Amino acid sequence: MPVTSRVDGNVAVVTIDHPPVNGLGHAVRIELLRELRRALVSDAVRAVVVTGREGCFSAGADITEFGTPRSTTAPTLAEIIGEIDASTKPIVAAIDGTCLGGGLELALAMHYRVATPSSTLALPEVNLGFVPGSGGTQRLPRAIGMAAAADLITAGTSTTADKLADIPGQRLLEGVYDGDIVGHAVQVAARIADARPLPRLRDLTPTDRIGDNQLTDMRATLRTKHRGLEAPIAALDLVTRSATTPFDDAIAEERATFVRLVGGTQSAGLRHAFFAERQARKIPDLPEDTTTRPIGTIAVIGAGTMGCGIAVSFLDAGLPVTMIDTTRDALERGRRTIAAIFDSRVRKETLTSSEKDTRLARLRTSIDLHDGANADLVVEAVFESWDVKRSVFSRLDAVMKPGAILATNTSTLDVDDLADVTERPQDVVGLHFFSPAHVMKLLEVVRAARTAPDVLATAMTTARRLGKTAVVSGVCDGFIGNRMLQSYRDAAGRLLRSGLSPQDIDKAIESFGFAMGPYRMGDLAGNDIGWAVRRRRYVENPDMPHDTISDTLCEMGRFGQKTGAGWYDYPSGGRDPVPSSVVEEMLSRFRPRIAEDERPSDRQIVERLVFALIDEGARILDEGIAHRSSDIDVVYVSGYGFPRYRGGPMYYADQVGLDRVLAELIADNPDDWQPAPLLVRLAKEGGTFG
Ligand code: NAD
Repeated sequence: MPVTSRVDGNVAVVTIDHPPVNGLGHAVRIELLRELRRALVSDAVRAVVVTGREGCFSAGADITEFGTPRSTTAPTLAEIIGEIDASTKPIVAAIDGTCLGGGLELALAMHYRVATPSSTLALPEVNLGFVPGSGGTQRLPRAIGMAAAADLITAGTSTTADKLADIPGQRLLEGVYDGDIVGHAVQVAARIADARPLPRLRDLTPTDRIGDNQLTDMRATLRTKHRGLEAPIAALDLVTRSATTPFDDAIAEERATFVRLVGGTQSAGLRHAFFAERQARKIPDLPEDTTTRPIGTIAVIGAGTMGCGIAVSFLDAGLPVTMIDTTRDALERGRRTIAAIFDSRVRKETLTSSEKDTRLARLRTSIDLHDGANADLVVEAVFESWDVKRSVFSRLDAVMKPGAILATNTSTLDVDDLADVTERPQDVVGLHFFSPAHVMKLLEVVRAARTAPDVLATAMTTARRLGKTAVVSGVCDGFIGNRMLQSYRDAAGRLLRSGLSPQDIDKAIESFGFAMGPYRMGDLAGNDIGWAVRRRRYVENPDMPHDTISDTLCEMGRFGQKTGAGWYDYPSGGRDPVPSSVVEEMLSRFRPRIAEDERPSDRQIVERLVFALIDEGARILDEGIAHRSSDIDVVYVSGYGFPRYRGGPMYYADQVGLDRVLAELIADNPDDWQPAPLLVRLAKEGGTFG
């Protein structure tokens, strides 16, 4: 039974028991309402405790129900809450573990709440593009104040019960107790069984107000932070109603907003992204019970930009790291970089000094590869040079213990070739971290031809231990993300050559919701990186066309923010891009400025760039480099700033219609250009990538 009940003295204990997260799907709602009603009418029961099993109160609505008739089939959560509102007996929520979304809204409707200190509470609905729909935006401000509630609801992040209990004047938690929370709740219930009137949050008013100026600032911050996303601002507006609008009217407004947003395209895109991330953990030809190798110690080779970020990721996950480089100077610099990352977190109060010390104590450095020989996993992050990497891999092969996993962080080299350098190609895998590696969520796990199943499975579980979103990619130049990025940049280059400016292109794609346009991105990452790759390729492939404009920019020393000048100017070392007359003059040498009546609209600019991503994504899918189109979406949403609420490029393509994507691509490309065969096939069949 998904909900059970028992009577303890004169207190009924109703327990949601629906693994794994006590989600409030239809079956649970039916049982919960039945057990609540049974307790409320029973003469033997004077008070009720509601709790959840297995270290979880409830993670809220079952989101697989959204968009299906079951989500609105009675009893809805609102109906259960109505029953609690009408109760003449006190009801106490006993919260242990996660209490999210509808789970928290359920608890907020009860008369008292007790929790274990580490329980995590949140109204995370905005992360899926909608607002709380069962009273959360009205009851939470009455419980902890409007400003605190607005922060929590618009961010959608979790907070622990002990932190919430510290909010001055809070009426959310009657108490925070270690240990047997149900036992405590039963004691509370027995104590207040006869106390009247029953305290209901709905009858209170918030203890604070959000002033007009504060509200304007909050709106502006949300607009910048969640560019284009509707839900956070809608949630903020609803929270402000708690001060001015009668409770039932505000609840009706909340409900209407919830229904509108749940049915909207942004929420559909965010839900797609959510499920796509879960799906990406599954590898079609790898049984879920594939054994993994134990990973207890790590070696990182190379103490540069990536090596340091990668080391921090492992230190954060509690793993000891030996970092190896060729000189003591490089190692000293690396150690300082790592310490500086932890120091900045201590300043921001996201890490305590003692946690910093513990993490640094787990870091060893060495100039001798033998010192990493006993590691279970070694991640190579040396220079992007075939000769250097080949030499490192053959030495690793000689020194590493049997069964160790040999991973490379290469961006462009062939992982199969690197595996061939060793006598143990089955132990070689790519772990393509993104910069800064300790911040970026995405990790491409590159499966080489002979990577063993248990090595792949271990790479995936290790990624999860690091808190990364892992996507499996096959071997190809640039893997999934950078290979597609090349097509996107090429499309931007065509627009630039047609007479647009970098800022025209960046502005259009940023208004679509990308975190940053291709030219600002180039300036941030360093234009010299792409230049180095291009120059290598010009030598390898003498027939390839040169990117003359980008090459000229680099010849002018305009590498980006680090040189104070790139596609934009960065006066006095700042980070804010200013359109550059020098670049404009340089561009004018290569192409005429476009006539006003020939300028593509922002929408057309966006389509050229995004459709180019889609075309390359279709090739990647067809070649089996990505297992499924949603994996490509995960790469773009978690690693490349593609607006999450648009689901990812392949999902977006399905929404736009593949026949239109194909027609536009054909119109925008040279006559001898061939679209991706999979795209052509699906467009003809009226199919979708999904
Ligand atoms: P980097 O130049 O900052 O660091 C490379 C480090 O490797 C240096 O400290 C160097 O001393 C060390 N090194 C060189 N040869 C070595 C050897 N034989 N043994 C031990 N150490 C050696 O480079 P980076 O930006 O950190 O890039 C490292 C790798 O990560 C490259 O393969 C690169 O393609 C890849 N990568 C870089 C980025 C990025 O944005 N920088 C992103 C993803 C992947």
